[in-house]
Amino acid sequence: MSLPYRCYVVVSREQIALNYRNVRSVVGPDVEVAGVVKADAYGHGAVEVSRVLVAEGAKWLAVSSVEEGVKLRSGGVRQARILVMGGFLPYEGDALVEHELTPVVHSLDQLGLLEQLGRASGKSIAYHLKIDSGMNRLGTRAGADEILAALAKNRHARLEGLMTHFASAADYTTGQTGDQLRYFHAICARLREAGATAAYLHTSSTNAVGYGRVEGWHNLVRAGHALY
Ligand SMILES: *Cc1c(COP(=O)(O)O)cnc(C)c1O
Repeated sequence: MSLPYRCYVVVSREQIALNYRNVRSVVGPDVEVAGVVKADAYGHGAVEVSRVLVAEGAKWLAVSSVEEGVKLRSGGVRQARILVMGGFLPYEGDALVEHELTPVVHSLDQLGLLEQLGRASGKSIAYHLKIDSGMNRLGTRAGADEILAALAKNRHARLEGLMTHFASAADYTTGQTGDQLRYFHAICARLREAGATAAYLHTSSTNAVGYGRVEGWHNLVRAGHALY
């Protein structure tokens, strides 16, 4: 037998399925587990891995870009919702709507763009708003009142999720994760009081699951490297 390459990687679908089931069993039946399949499923093949996860019952997948989301849809991944964590660029709006991808919104300015897209397509567009609670990477730093003012302008763009990302969930020598959660929960509470509720709250990736940050699991977690 002649092998085409000196080096190769064997990816086990069974193991990925088992890893997904393990994450589910840790967080329990009331918490959805979104499978993070960005960067070609960390190099394992995004379409292949997504098929495995959907067969395991995953209702949500998460990617970085619209381009990655379109690849999944074109590859036949239809049942699952696809969260585009890196948000979208103005020229990607039509593809976002056409392929029914769910954007993460990182700035209140973008809500105007989403509203226009919804109006033009005659559809309600669900989005997840990312709050920057201290990671200082993506997400809005706007306070609750500013967010409420922006939400009041929208008819077609529909708030479905509120999310944030921890900077140091695996580090129990700092109080940063607790601080981030307090900041996030304060904003969620103010929005809820004003009648702006989101179906999903999510703040946890693998480390927050593995390191037992239970108060950060809410009703959805975003598992990436735990699956691989
Ligand atoms: C990559 C990513 C994840 C998954 O991270 P893991 O540590 O691999 O679980 C979750 N959320 C966001 C926002 C990400 O960018």
